[in-house]
Amino acid sequence: MANAEHGYMDLAIAQARIGRSEGGIPIGAVLAGPDGVLGLGHNRRVQSDNPILHAEMDALANAGRLSYTDYLSATMYTTLSPCSMCTGAVLLYRIPRVVIGENATFLGEEELLRSRGVDVTVVDRTECTRLMQNFIAQYPTLWAEDIGEETDSSKRTGAASLIRASGCHPASNCHG
Ligand SMILES: [Zn+2]
Repeated sequence: MANAEHGYMDLAIAQARIGRSEGGIPIGAVLAGPDGVLGLGHNRRVQSDNPILHAEMDALANAGRLSYTDYLSATMYTTLSPCSMCTGAVLLYRIPRVVIGENATFLGEEELLRSRGVDVTVVDRTECTRLMQNFIAQYPTLWAEDIGEETDSSKRTGAASLIRASGCHPASNCHG
């Protein structure tokens, strides 16, 4: 992997750490073009109480409205193998390259991406795996929720206590 690429994954990892420090799921993403960063993002599902704010979606949103050709020359860097929602967004905008920090924790739709001609590279960064493993050990229910798996409702207090631990829920008008 070239140095610039390594740098973009470092930025994605930094985003994951920001997400973790906010009480969220530690997944980060960077949408980059030939001239640099287009958008940074991290999973804000918990922080914003928003089920579609995965890291890749956040990066796309933060990049704003780009032209067709901007997407065609972009690369999506993500610390974790992309789920079907984020894969769909990559395919929709015809982003031709995806660089993935790790896929041991979760194997997303890499085969679908490849079958549609997307260049997929998995770089196996241990920082990415460690962030996820530590988080999942602590908050298994939040993780199951993020990837659309059934959760035991009796454990859902995990989310509430996580939000409490990080102070006010950012999406609420909490004054406490
Ligand atoms: Zn996703």
